[in-house]
Amino acid sequence: MKFETKLIHGGNSEDQATGAVSIPIYRASTFHQKTLGGNTKWEYGRTGNPTRLALEKLISDLEGGVAGFAFASGSAAIHAVFSLYSAHDHFIIGSDVYGGTFRLVNKVLKRFGLEFTVVDMRDLAAVEAAILPQTVAIYLETPTNPLLELADIEKIAQIAKKHQLKTIVDNTFATPYNQQPLKLGADIVVHSATKYLGGHSDVVAGLAVTNDSKLAAELAFLQNSLGSVLGPDDSWLVQRGIKTLGARMRVHHENASKIVDFLQAHPKVARVIYPGLEGSAGYNVAKKQMRGFGAMVSFELQAGLDVKKFIESLQLITLAESLGGIESLIEVPAVMTHGSIPREIRLQNGISDELIRLSVGLEDYEDLIFDLQQALDKI
Ligand code: PLP
Repeated sequence: MKFETKLIHGGNSEDQATGAVSIPIYRASTFHQKTLGGNTKWEYGRTGNPTRLALEKLISDLEGGVAGFAFASGSAAIHAVFSLYSAHDHFIIGSDVYGGTFRLVNKVLKRFGLEFTVVDMRDLAAVEAAILPQTVAIYLETPTNPLLELADIEKIAQIAKKHQLKTIVDNTFATPYNQQPLKLGADIVVHSATKYLGGHSDVVAGLAVTNDSKLAAELAFLQNSLGSVLGPDDSWLVQRGIKTLGARMRVHHENASKIVDFLQAHPKVARVIYPGLEGSAGYNVAKKQMRGFGAMVSFELQAGLDVKKFIESLQLITLAESLGGIESLIEVPAVMTHGSIPREIRLQNGISDELIRLSVGLEDYEDLIFDLQQALDKI
């Protein structure tokens, strides 16, 4: 099946029990076991649920894995993946990761003895140089949040394999529509399904997928043991969102290109960051490993212009955290999504106080441009 067909027919697209073409929401915490101690497919809602399984099979198909796992949030999925490891295991982690991942690493995982070296994933020599005898995995986002930096997954996975390390990729920004890290050599993919996969800003969810059956068995054990599973209603919402991922991503991308052209030409805009900008640092890597460039755009206004006034003057584009929904969302990472990163580290990583991150939605792009223009006129 081609990707677009898999979106609709992948996983358990039809209910095995009834033939319902839309998987039902099995809202049950436990399942009748017909014999004592016998083998039953369904036992207890944390361990497994048919609606959740439909989503898990779907994401596994889309990422080219052997198994998928649905969690209560992207952060819960990332936590479960790091829980595969033990105290004194060492990770190489990208310098530009979601603020919540930075917080999880620094405020939680380090307390349990996991060790981390932060590296710019665009610098392959630095990635290899950071490997220690106790290194177990390389963890990266690409494109990164919020700087949209591109890391070469294939080359990083080659380095990892050479040193018997696992490669873990947060594929939230790209989605499997644009990029499939397992096919490029990664071992585990994680998602905040809250974003493009859910796609409608109405559900918080996380997913993990692997193409390694040993890791899959360990993740199944951890999913059940940690217990941060996705409920059946939310599993249904995410799988429903995924059905239209292809159609949505095409319009997201088309709109983002128009917005990027507008911002680049505007005299009040100093810098635009977008993986699809020809000649930009990540363009060649993006071209090589991505089908499209996505719809996340970061930018900075000319020095001295009032960012707060600009953002608050927007009428249509909504000031809010999150991304990947049908509606355009705008935010300032320094005070919002990346506020948990100490300022000096943030600045060192290139996230200025004034950086603006825009998640381009599915509205008519002319209305979005009109909104940006009228807000820029006010500053
Ligand atoms: N990964 C990335 C790239 C994100 O942007 C986010 C949230 O913004 C997460 C992970 C965490 O996901 P969640 O908010 O669903 O816990």
